[in-house]
Parts: sequence; C-alpha cells; structure tokens
Amino acid sequence: MDTETIVIPSNHDRERTPIARISAILFDLDNTLISTRKSDVITTQKVAEKISREYEIPLPVAKQASETFLRRFRRCVENPMMTLEEWRILLWVNALGEEYDDLAEDIYVIWKRYRYRNLTPPESTLKILRSLRKQYQLALVTNGPSNSQWEKIKELGLEDYFDAIVVSGDLQYEKPEPEIFHRVCDNLGVRSFECLIVGDRIETDIKGGYAAELGITVWLPLDEPGQLPPDPLPDYTIRDISELQYILGRPRKNDSSKSKRLSKPNKGRTSTPPGPNAPGTSASVSDETSSEAAPESFPASGAVSETED
Ligand SMILES: [Mg+2]
Repeated sequence: MDTETIVIPSNHDRERTPIARISAILFDLDNTLISTRKSDVITTQKVAEKISREYEIPLPVAKQASETFLRRFRRCVENPMMTLEEWRILLWVNALGEEYDDLAEDIYVIWKRYRYRNLTPPESTLKILRSLRKQYQLALVTNGPSNSQWEKIKELGLEDYFDAIVVSGDLQYEKPEPEIFHRVCDNLGVRSFECLIVGDRIETDIKGGYAAELGITVWLPLDEPGQLPPDPLPDYTIRDISELQYILGRPRKNDSSKSKRLSKPNKGRTSTPPGPNAPGTSASVSDETSSEAAPESFPASGAVSETED
C-alpha cells in the first residue's frame, strides 16, 4: 500500500506540535465519527420502503414523503418551541399529507429506529477510540443544537468513549471560535498546543483549530465531487479515521498512564512517533507503515466499513 497517498502532510509552513507532545485528541462528531449525512439518506430510503410495505402506501408517495421529511429536518433539526419528538412528528405530519398524516407518530418511531441503526459507528471505529484512549485524552467537540446533538451522543453510547464532550448549543460560542476549543482544553486540563483535532469541515474544524492554536489539525474530508481545495490547508489529510495511526505512530511503550501527560509536555520518550515531513522529502509519517505492520491495536486500513450498508 502506498502510504504516501494515505496521509498527506499538507501545511508545511506551520510549526506543528511534535507528535510526542500531543496528549489529547479532539474529534468532531457529524461526518467525522459518524456518517450523519450518508446515514440519513439511507435511512430515508429504508423508511420509505418499510412504510410502503407496512402501511400500503404507494412507494413513490412514501419516497416523496420521506425525502420531504429529510429536507425539512435538515433545514431545521430542532424547534425550541417543542420537544424533539413533537417537532419530528409535526414534520412527518406535513410530509405525509392529509391522506396519511395519521401515521406520523408510528412512522416517526420507525424513522428514529432506522436512523440510529444506520448512525451507529462501526466496531472498528469504536476499537480505535478505545485504543487511543489508553494513550490520549479524548474529547468530542460538536456544533449543533443541544438536544439533538446530545440525543445522538446518548443513543449511540458515545459518552463512554470520551473524557470531555462539548456541544456548541450549550454555550455562547461554536466552532470555529477558539473559545469552544479552549473550553475543551480546560475540561481536559491540557494546553491547546497539546491537542490534535480531527474533523471534516475546513471552515469549522481546521480553521477553528488554527484559531485556537491547537497543535495539529487533521482533515477527514467528506467524499464530495467538486470539492474545492482546502483553505487553510490542514496539517494532515486522511480518508478514514483508521489512518490516524499513520500520524500518531505506534503506541508508545512504558506510557500507559495518560494522566502523566496532563498539562505537561512529554519529555524523554524512548520512541519517537513519526512527524510531518519537510517539503520535498518523503513522508516520514509513511515510513512507519511502509515497512512494518500496522499497530495491532488499530484495525487494518480498509477494514472500516460504512455503517449504512
Ligand atoms: Mg462535521
């Protein structure tokens, strides 16, 4: 496997924190840890098929209702005047139209069940989080309304995987404002330069990472046609969470206590994880895996499957 094409150290002008001094990893949620956009499209299709079968709604009508629901749901995921459930049922009432709107409550229950089934991260991703947490503090930093973001976090059991979780809807600021990242750093007891951020959005995750002076920015772009080149350039670009291993390197020996790293730079490490390369040189991040097997604690690249299959 040509690892140079997997991890692209792209921002050569910036002085990144050496990997050995990274003590916390900050993850974006939607379309980074969970494939929200893709999953919601699949859920829409599955719900249309299900309700067509179950309630004898003609399939084109069911599809249209389901797609209308998704479009309006995305436009406004939460209505502060009502509960999540009330708002979603209302969206279904409107999407189903007069002939079928009495089914809205039942269909909402079906939609929610399918949604979380499809949103559940694959075991390989959870395994990566468990593995990383042995060495690093992990945090979730997500933009979005409080109730709907927390519903996702709780329904998916993600609370158990993180040392800190920050939802912008609970605060007066959101990514890319540096305050939200500094809030996470305070919660973790680390300094901003000790953090690595992973996210899918340049405008919020990467730009915000720079604004907050985080140590390393990693971009996990959505696979979208016609995507513009990133501006600003992230420090690294990966195509899958599993590829973090190529940036972080092997788990460090004799360093099982992450509490030792809290707010202190690492000193005297016996093994030096790979760092980003200088312009024009081969990627030292790739050397780790080009001649050696991937660390056992990570699933092999490519083993990560889509949740919505
Ligand atoms: Mg995102």
